[in-house]
Amino acid sequence: MKTGSIISYILAAIFIVLSFLFILGSFSPDGSPSWLVIGIIGLILGFALIFAGVRLAAKAKDLAATYTLNVDLPGNVQLDTVTCKACGSPLDSSDVKIINGAPMVECHSCGTTYQLTEEPKW
Ligand SMILES: [Zn+2]
Repeated sequence: MKTGSIISYILAAIFIVLSFLFILGSFSPDGSPSWLVIGIIGLILGFALIFAGVRLAAKAKDLAATYTLNVDLPGNVQLDTVTCKACGSPLDSSDVKIINGAPMVECHSCGTTYQLTEEPKW
């Protein structure tokens, strides 16, 4: 997804530079007026590619956001009714941290940490 948008940006830059040269050339004595038309079409294509690149980047961002949401959701559900074993204060998803790749719950009141895999014993 990211590579796709980078390629469109590079193509857009090439299109815009070439179109600019065509437009400049159409005003020079050696140039032909039809180059102006080619240049304008090239510019439009270049901006269309930038637009496509932005769309691709936004799509990639959406996918990343969805992924984060999927990770957060099980934590939210599991911790809904969980309270701290040491002090009894309710724990929520903001207390969940990933430590060494394992999901850990750190109580915001007393600082006790639990591993999420121990959750059924609570
Ligand atoms: Zn606690």
